[in-house]
Amino acid sequence: MSKPSSRIVKKFGGTSLQDAASIETICQLIQDRLADQPCLVVSAHAGVTDALIELAEHAVHEEVDLGPLVRRHQEILRDLGLPTDLQTPLFRELEDLCRGILLVGELSPRSRDYVLSFGERASSLCLAAALSARGTPATAVDAAELGFRSDSNFGQANLLPDDGRIAENLAKVEGVPVVTGFLAKDTQGNRTTLGRNGSDLSAAFLGNAIDAREIQIWTDVDGVLTADPRVVPDARLIQALSYDEASELAFYGAKVLHPSSLLPAIQKSIPVRVLNTHRPKSPGTLILGDLPEEDLAVRCIAHKTGLTMVSILSSRMLAQPGFLARIFRAFEAQEISVDVVATSEVSVSVTLDPGTSPTRLAKVRQELERIGTVQIEEDLALLCIIGHGIQHRTGVPARVFGPLQRAGITIRMISMGALKVNLSLVVRDQDCERALRALHKEFFSPQDKP
Ligand code: ADP
Ligand code: ASP
Ligand code: MG
Repeated sequence: MSKPSSRIVKKFGGTSLQDAASIETICQLIQDRLADQPCLVVSAHAGVTDALIELAEHAVHEEVDLGPLVRRHQEILRDLGLPTDLQTPLFRELEDLCRGILLVGELSPRSRDYVLSFGERASSLCLAAALSARGTPATAVDAAELGFRSDSNFGQANLLPDDGRIAENLAKVEGVPVVTGFLAKDTQGNRTTLGRNGSDLSAAFLGNAIDAREIQIWTDVDGVLTADPRVVPDARLIQALSYDEASELAFYGAKVLHPSSLLPAIQKSIPVRVLNTHRPKSPGTLILGDLPEEDLAVRCIAHKTGLTMVSILSSRMLAQPGFLARIFRAFEAQEISVDVVATSEVSVSVTLDPGTSPTRLAKVRQELERIGTVQIEEDLALLCIIGHGIQHRTGVPARVFGPLQRAGITIRMISMGALKVNLSLVVRDQDCERALRALHKEFFSPQDKP
């Protein structure tokens, strides 16, 4: 294994870069900890990626007005005392691109990714300039130029293994590198993006490439909490999580981490820490390998809404080899990934993520109807109770039913992962928030030690 470097990768999300005051806070934070040999990864300023998506969609039909977007960026630069024309060449390029989209009257996934790239490219210029102006020399670095390569799955590109060029190129950067998150280039040189919240993955990938000592995800909450604080305001901070618990939590909907962001860290056993930009002294959440035996607990409850459940009922299923394979092949053929699976002797149910294409789902349905009766139920939500304590403490499943029954909530499906790190429940979307609060109270009420 290669020797860990003494660098720390620090990723700042859009919420940490929302205005000049937040950027000042970051500058101070970096200056106070230069001993960390920081290597920064940034998201676009909060809301900019959403604005660019809208812009790209409008650009197909009409001449778009970049004014509001340009003014938002200029206002931040002005408030930081920086030249307001710093990003002008970028916005000219964006203007040309939008004109091109209008001309061809079509927004290809490739052009869409190109449009989205401007958010991170602009914010990295801004932060590097702010740091430099405050006495910490820094350089904006485009991840695509640094060596982040991906496949051509635009919108959700998969990073290709690094061949050592990232560390090599990074070593040549002067001052603190401020690398664009979320972005890469495919082998033909087209710009790609890594999926929403992809900067977390960029940070972890960079940490892996340079054998970082630690990967820090700086955000707008104190760390990973026992539930989404927007739904459960009294959610508590989790001090430590194992890699597999954190992976489950990210996969099952907690926006605080991108679903694949733990993998590069796990590969090289690099600790990941989630911290609050606005309260830098709070200890945050440390995510690392195995936790001590006495620390096995029910850790948190993740949730996601807008799911669809597909159930296949067939009395012929029993003793038929290849039955499940046929079902999963139908989903595979339409490139639909399934989330949670539950089976009985006469039925199989799977849940699908909100983004599933209705046309592809209709094709799967057709195929599955050759096997059995198919039921499709929409507007469902998934609640996922996560923690090694599920395996090591008795009575966790039993504690799930009482509170939900008392709240009058019906469970539509239940599934326990083979590693017993999670217990997943499907309920109706409209019951989700109540169910989450009831379960959170059961497992994390102040007097209760989870
Ligand atoms: P950033 O801009 O830093 O990437 P995000 O908005 O992507 O921030 O992620 C942070 C948000 O994730 C928090 O503000 C919080 O609302 C949400 N969140 C959802 N589940 C959790 C959880 N279990 N712990 C912490 N935050 C969570
Ligand atoms: N800016 C991108 C997004 O809004 C990536 C990120 O924030 O991580 O999804
Ligand atoms: Mg994020």
